[in-house]
Amino acid sequence: MMVLLESKHAELMDLNKQLNDLVNVDYLMQIGNRRFFHERIESTHQMALRYNRYYSIIVCDLDNFKKYNDTYGHQKGDYILLTVANLFKTLLRKTDEIFRWGGEEIIIILPEQALSDALVIAESLRAEVEKIAIEHKGNDYQVVTISCGVASYFPGKKSDIGWDNVIKDADDALYRAKEGKRNTVYSV
Ligand code: GH3
Ligand code: MG
Ligand code: MG
Repeated sequence: MMVLLESKHAELMDLNKQLNDLVNVDYLMQIGNRRFFHERIESTHQMALRYNRYYSIIVCDLDNFKKYNDTYGHQKGDYILLTVANLFKTLLRKTDEIFRWGGEEIIIILPEQALSDALVIAESLRAEVEKIAIEHKGNDYQVVTISCGVASYFPGKKSDIGWDNVIKDADDALYRAKEGKRNTVYSV
């Protein structure tokens, strides 16, 4: 009887995890999806407001990725997206949270991290992607690279600021990296 109950319990736990993954995980990149990001950023922002904490956001975008698909095919492109997401998982801390933001864009929440720390982390992500040297002839660097925009919330930042403002800052910074030489990290 006990054995049967235990096995039913394990089965339910497994089904629960599967359901959770279906709702929260992006199938292609195997990281959080955009819906889950909204849930987590809202909670992170409210905690930061309530307890006067920092947090930072990194937005990463693969450089010249349309050309990658055009040259190597969409399926290979999909594989690169998964490879980059997996690499990020190995580099980030357990407390950092990683999500697919859009097509070839990843967004990361760094709880408790100020801008200076977040810039160091973003730079290491950028450098490690370049280092694994996946061939990309349509990119200036001849290998797959990413550009990153970084922004932070800090205690005392205008209290009526929302997380959407933090993301806009990160997006503006990313835009500057794209206007420049790409394969770089910017903050506003
Ligand atoms: P930039 O350096 O300015 O970011 O150039 P880009 O070509 O990466 O940017 P653009 O926004 O012009 O194109 C994004 C490309 O990302 C085009 C699209 O086919 C590709 N992409 C988006 N989602 C996926 C996906 O799920 N799989 C694959 N293989 N490609 C994707
Ligand atoms: Mg993009
Ligand atoms: Mg891109």
